[in-house]
Parts: sequence; C-alpha cells; structure tokens
Amino acid sequence: MATHNLAAILKNPLHDAEYLLLKQTPPPKFGEDQYDSYVDSDLWDLPSTLLNLRNDHSHSAIVIHGAQSSQDIDLTKFDVQLALNEVLEKLGLQMNDVGEWSLFKYVEEAEFGPGGPVNTVFVMGKLLDGNRNCQGLSKWMTTESCLNWLLEVKLSNDRVGPLVVVALINDSLQSAAWKLPPTLHHQEYPPGVIILPMQSRTTKPFDTTNLVIFAPARVADTFGDCGFVAHGDALIVDPGCRREHHEELKQIVASLPKKLIVFVTHHHRDHVDGLSVIQKCNPNATMIAHENTMCRIGKGDWSLGYTSVSGGEDILVGGQRLTVIFAPGHTDGHVALLDVSTNSLIVGDHCVGQGSAALDINSGGNMTEYFRTTYNFLELSPHTLIPMHGRVNMWPKNMLCGYLKNRRSREASILKAIENGAETLFDIVANVYSGVDHSFWIAAASNVRLHVDHLDQQKKLPEEFSVQKFHKTWAPFFVRWTCAYLRSRCVKQKMPSLLITGTLAGIAGYLLGKKHALI
Ligand SMILES: [Zn+2]
Ligand SMILES: [Zn+2]
Repeated sequence: MATHNLAAILKNPLHDAEYLLLKQTPPPKFGEDQYDSYVDSDLWDLPSTLLNLRNDHSHSAIVIHGAQSSQDIDLTKFDVQLALNEVLEKLGLQMNDVGEWSLFKYVEEAEFGPGGPVNTVFVMGKLLDGNRNCQGLSKWMTTESCLNWLLEVKLSNDRVGPLVVVALINDSLQSAAWKLPPTLHHQEYPPGVIILPMQSRTTKPFDTTNLVIFAPARVADTFGDCGFVAHGDALIVDPGCRREHHEELKQIVASLPKKLIVFVTHHHRDHVDGLSVIQKCNPNATMIAHENTMCRIGKGDWSLGYTSVSGGEDILVGGQRLTVIFAPGHTDGHVALLDVSTNSLIVGDHCVGQGSAALDINSGGNMTEYFRTTYNFLELSPHTLIPMHGRVNMWPKNMLCGYLKNRRSREASILKAIENGAETLFDIVANVYSGVDHSFWIAAASNVRLHVDHLDQQKKLPEEFSVQKFHKTWAPFFVRWTCAYLRSRCVKQKMPSLLITGTLAGIAGYLLGKKHALI
C-alpha cells in the first residue's frame, strides 16, 4: 500500500521564477571520528512531510485550488492542513505568510520497494513578503540555478534533491530527445539518468532490479575520439527483468537510439535475465562487462562480441563521460559506473536501497575487497548512489560508513566468539546469530567464512585457531544446521518426539550422503 508525502513549492512574490528550497537534515552521525570525518555536502530540496489520512470527518479550513477537479487524488481524505503546518514550520513560516494554495502535481512513485511506493502531492503557494530572511535554512533558487548544480557538479558543492527535479525540472527539459513508454513508472534523477524498477528473480526483501537508462540530451562532444573504450548514444545498465516483462524491455530497447551500450555490473541472474532480449532487438549493441562476469554469463544470454573492462576505462554516451570503477567484493567481477557530469555512482549490488547485500562466496565474494571498494567509493565523493535494488541514496558517505561500521561490528562479534573457544563454523554461527531465525543461518554461514578470511588476512585471529581446520567444518555445518533447524520447527509446531527423531535421522543421513553436492 502506498504512503503519501506533501511537498510545497513556495514562490517568491518579487521574482516569479524563484522558489524556496530547504536545507535537508542529514542522517545522524556515528559518534566515531573514523566515520564522522566523511561528510556529505549540503542537500537542498522542496520542503516536505508525511501526508496522513484524516482521522475525523471535520471540514478542512484550507482550500487547495484545483484539488476538487483532480482525477488522480482525493485530497479530502488527507490531513492537508496538518502537513502544511509542519512544512511551514520547517521554514520558520506560518500559514498567514502564504497567499492561496493550489494543487500543482501528483506523482506516483515507481515500485522500488521494500514496502509500497511513496506518492507525493505537490502544492504551490506564493509568499506574501518576498524579503523574508531565510536564516541559512532555506534559499531562493530557480530551475536554471538548480540545473547548474545538478549538471555541472563540483565535488564538494551543495546538491539539489529529487523532489525539485521531479516537480519542476524534468518537465522543463524540452530537449529530452527520447521518452520512455508512458505506462512504465520510473524516476529520472539526476536529469538524464532514468531508473526503472522491473520485476526480477532477485532476493527478498526486494522484488525488482533497477534498469538504469542513461540517455542524455546530446551535448556537443568536446572529448574527441581518443581514450574511450566505447561510444554510444544511449546506455543501459543491468537488464535483469523476469521473462514476463521481456515485452516491456523490447519496447524500451526499440525506443532507444540504435547506437546502444549495455553495461553489466555482475553476472547474477537478476542483472542479466533480459540480455537475450537486447541481443535479439539490437544485435549491434555493445556489451561491456568484466572478464570474470563474462565467463559466468551463458552464451545463450550474450553470444555477440563484448568489451572487457577492469576499471578506469571511460565510455562516451551522448557526448558525456562515464568512468568504469572496479568494485569487487559482492563478486570478483563486480564493476560500478560513475556518471562524471552529475557525479552519481551506479553501484551495482555493492549497496542496496535498504539493509546490505550478501557477498557471493561462490563467485569470488571477498570481505577484504568489499572494504577496499567501500573506501574507494568514499574517496570518489559521489553526490548520489544509484543501487540496482531500492531507492536512490542521497547521503552516500553516510550509507557507506554505515556499511563499514556494521560489518566491523559483526566481525568483532565473530572474533569474540573465536576467542571464547568457538572453532567450527556451526559454533561461530550459533554464537553470533543466536537471536536470528535458523532459516537465515545458511546466508550467515557464508558471511562468517568471509569475515574469518578477512580476520586472517589482518592477522587478528588467535594463534591457536586453525583456519585450515575451520574451512573443513563447512560440510558438517549443514548436518548440524539441519538438525537445529528441524528441531526449532518441530518445537514450534508441537510435532511428536518420535517423528522428530525419525525425520532428523532421515535428513541427516540424506545430507551426509549428499554432502559433496551441498558444498
Ligand atoms: Zn548480485
Ligand atoms: Zn542483485
């Protein structure tokens, strides 16, 4: 189910092109210098707040012109007055500082997940006094000044958020040469970068993979011909949608310029399931991926030629430069892509919109490289992170430092369990993840193996702990986990003890017989 936001466009009575942007509150700090020294630059956006449903039937005193005739949303169901008061309070304003209100736009968010979309009601009002002192928390901006910040980025400059882009900028970019079929819900942020979540065979809590389409309005190419591994008029990243959505993907590819580049961050099925469609629709498209990724992509998915990258290469799309960033950790062939002009970083599965992605131990996932990549991303100082699952992240340094802190804290618990005598994989998992449902222990076990390797590399493990012996406890882990899992399920469902014993014996025997298949 969708939740709603209300965002206000407050115009300047002295300059019609100007509206107020509010300095956004950053996420809380960590209280540790090693993380708090990384600071995201100031972010400015339209003032907004949650728009709740009304819990009484009283008549609202606020009139929003144009709301009654809206086909898209029934504003009488919502407590608009409360939301407007909250928005104005953030700006140090009151209701009588503003003239009439009108409904400007209603925008339904695409299904990024997890959870339902957040739809936004944009209302417009005009301040009565244009000479108000904004006190550093708000500032007058025009679409032109916002575009300067968005498209000619300087590393530590202030930033402009997605609400103002969705409400006022996307529509004003008359030069956009290419448009998506209108039925496909998407987000364009920053301008020129389209993010379209499509249903995919990904893992919970997500259902979709973001297809990122980079099709900027063509600018004069000032770079010349040299030094680029590929040239194109459009680029798409990670076509990973399910078979049921291949028709939509076909429509997208058909509407894009023919000189197309397909960039694949890594080989997981939720990132490559649509490759064969592109191959059929546009056999001249240039595919770009890391060698290790190409080795794992089946020939059926992409049998045409490809360009192998390992990081540092530049790609030219519509006269704009994108740089390939080697980003191992999630897999050993994982690559990211930096859009240089907007300084936005397409991060593959290194970051996800909510929580953190598991590393794939069977495809070269590596904790040491994961940490290194995270620090590399921090050094790039991106203005935005675009993950392939979930929403765009507007506080990149905070998110990356959150990952570092969480992984370190998990690693410290693993080291403590080992120092307290845990020697096998099962003992460590049972100790560190004791409060977590047994069904998550398999993924946890891979995580523990990667952390133990990382601890070993840092020479932090106690001398008496044998990493070689530890690695041999992977198969016995499955047997012990199966017993623990079934026991916990049987207790929950009150199964008779004889049946439990019989089931356990059967499963354990089966697993022992099959242990090589499970490794
Ligand atoms: Zn992945
Ligand atoms: Zn994925």
